[in-house]
Amino acid sequence: MIPLPDTLAAPGVDLHMHSTASDGALSPEALMSLCRSRGLTHVALTDHDSVAGVAEAAAAAERLGLTLLPGAELSVQWRGLTVHVLGYLPEGALAPMCEGLAAQAEAREARNLEIARRLEAVGLDDALARARAGVTEQRPLGRPDFARALVEAGVVPDIAAAFKRYLGAGKRGDVKMHWPYLGEALGWIRASRGVAVLAHPLRYKLTRRKRGLLLDDFATAGGEGAELLSGFQNPDETRDLARQLAERGLLASRGSDFHFPGGHLAPGTVSDVPRTPVTPLWHHPSLAAFAGRAVPS
Ligand code: AMP
Ligand code: MN
Ligand code: MN
Ligand code: MN
Repeated sequence: MIPLPDTLAAPGVDLHMHSTASDGALSPEALMSLCRSRGLTHVALTDHDSVAGVAEAAAAAERLGLTLLPGAELSVQWRGLTVHVLGYLPEGALAPMCEGLAAQAEAREARNLEIARRLEAVGLDDALARARAGVTEQRPLGRPDFARALVEAGVVPDIAAAFKRYLGAGKRGDVKMHWPYLGEALGWIRASRGVAVLAHPLRYKLTRRKRGLLLDDFATAGGEGAELLSGFQNPDETRDLARQLAERGLLASRGSDFHFPGGHLAPGTVSDVPRTPVTPLWHHPSLAAFAGRAVPS
């Protein structure tokens, strides 16, 4: 196996993707096939609050000659906001992570009841049943399912409007009180010998100063990296974020946050790599085997 390069300029790597185990459109197997056909070599499956797709993805990856890193994208609370944490699990979901994911499933159930209650209050009858309709997989619901229900009921014209008016950050359907606190979720990941990475730091609409505070809190709680490249982003913002990571010694990751084909991004799609020197996530000692380096003894 050829080891991964020393820079984030590694077009064969995508460490953030979703399958039907959460709100992605492709089965884990179909996702792996698409990654293979796009020439990717090193991939991670990071469904929301779940590793249910990992076994199927691992079998497909093995067959296709892809190197798979198991993971999950956890929703957590941080100073009154919801942020997303990628937990990479080179040894799989060990007991602490399994317990954490079981807690996340319960949190989602409670949250879905509350989202439904709030949407019913604005006129969407039987909101939970409508969100569940058409979801054939055994998976917890999320805001995208409620968004689809709002569109199908004719309350809003499209998904974007559903988020803008009812489900996006700060709107009445944005229920965050059930999520664990940042430090708690990082505890599950670290106790499972995993690596915690802050997902898409530019997507929380924070000022630079507040983003710095988030990165500080994340590092203090044991987080080791952040996504420098996530889908499409502004090059100036990328450069600025690179500096913020370098200042804190955080490793830098890349991922498309792919959910469905036919959109504007595909597995492997990220914006340009900035010139600011950063250390790629795959330099982490726990990811040596994934990166194709000799495993430290
Ligand atoms: P949840 O995990 O239930 O909080 O749902 C969050 C998911 O909703 C994200 O991962 C996206 O897939 C999707 N989402 C969030 N904001 C938007 C938006 N403005 N438009 C479309 N999808 C969105
Ligand atoms: Mn999603
Ligand atoms: Mn996310
Ligand atoms: Mn995601």
